[in-house]
Amino acid sequence: MKSEVYFTPCGAEHFSDSILARLVKMFDRVGAGSIIKEGEYVAVKAHFGEEGNVSFISPVYYRTIIDRIKLCGGNPFLTDTNTLYVGQRNNAIKHLALANRHGFSFSAMDAPVVIADGLLGADFVEVPIENGKHFKKVKIASSIYWANTVVVMSHCKGHAVTSFGAALKNIGMGGACRAGKQEQHSGFTPGYDTQKCTGCGECVEWCNFDALKVVDGKIINDPKKCSGCGECIPVCRFDAIGTKWDGDTDATSEKIAEYAYGALKNKKDKKVFFNFLMNITPECDCFPSSGKFLVPDIGILASFDPVAIDQASVDMINRAQVIHENVKDNKDYEMSLADTDKFKMAHPKSKWDIQLRHAQEMGLGSREYEIIEVK
Ligand code: SF4
Ligand code: SF4
Repeated sequence: MKSEVYFTPCGAEHFSDSILARLVKMFDRVGAGSIIKEGEYVAVKAHFGEEGNVSFISPVYYRTIIDRIKLCGGNPFLTDTNTLYVGQRNNAIKHLALANRHGFSFSAMDAPVVIADGLLGADFVEVPIENGKHFKKVKIASSIYWANTVVVMSHCKGHAVTSFGAALKNIGMGGACRAGKQEQHSGFTPGYDTQKCTGCGECVEWCNFDALKVVDGKIINDPKKCSGCGECIPVCRFDAIGTKWDGDTDATSEKIAEYAYGALKNKKDKKVFFNFLMNITPECDCFPSSGKFLVPDIGILASFDPVAIDQASVDMINRAQVIHENVKDNKDYEMSLADTDKFKMAHPKSKWDIQLRHAQEMGLGSREYEIIEVK
């Protein structure tokens, strides 16, 4: 059965045509108000962007949704979880300070930011899942678990391990506490090219698990300590760290789908998704920079179905005209795919459809959808 996915395009048709006004219409047309009851806690799953990243969803979109939730009687709070890697979001104090610097202050949002897995990423609720291939139970950040309703606002972009990331990744990996993130990454260890390694040690500083050290001018990974977070890969300026393509990335994608299932399990009719097809970069917002956009901005999607909205997002991005000026000189891109599959072009060896397929198999939603345009 096809799921409904609402869509509004970027770009004004006339002087007073604001995309924020159309976002309000999307909220109403999808029926988001019907899932919020007076006084309920509404978690707005966000991503505040790593320090140096500028492609995350603008706070003005979050504020628009927060105002609408309040009109429906809900008590909204913005939320995300702590990261595995060293950065500005690996404990609640740094994370809150960064959110504030990126425009997510209480005064701007009229709602608090609550880091869902607490000060050090250890606050979680174990949720049993019946039909997992990898897990029997998953560790969901407590503030997401205990919220009555969740509104998942996701930036659509590429990802080094999963190829594509949006709603499923945002609530799956982003709804997990630190130990849950480790579980999803386990079994994955990057590969290191000692020929290219200069021994600069920058990746050693970045690793939060003390898994890297430079010996005789070359990098060494301790697999017993490595969590598999993959965050050292983009840090190396000498291309000495890469993904090992041995099937473990497929498992990580499936694990994300299982965590998404667990995070949404107690939200049966209490979840709604907004995907933002804007600033579509090859890598995710956890990177301390933003790459060149793959395609022009497309619009915003809304749905009750996380699988359908992600499938529709990939399809729309893949149908869009690639920005050739932005991609043609990238030696890592598979340019023969530029017009058909932007994520496979940017990440030729990883597969974006794994998380969608596994999520559908688990009953999270349908890859079949119908687009309803909101103007
Ligand atoms: S950042 Fe790259 S070059 Fe520097 S030590 Fe790590 S692997 Fe080697
Ligand atoms: S060495 Fe392992 S734990 Fe450390 S940043 Fe790289 S993937 Fe993550």
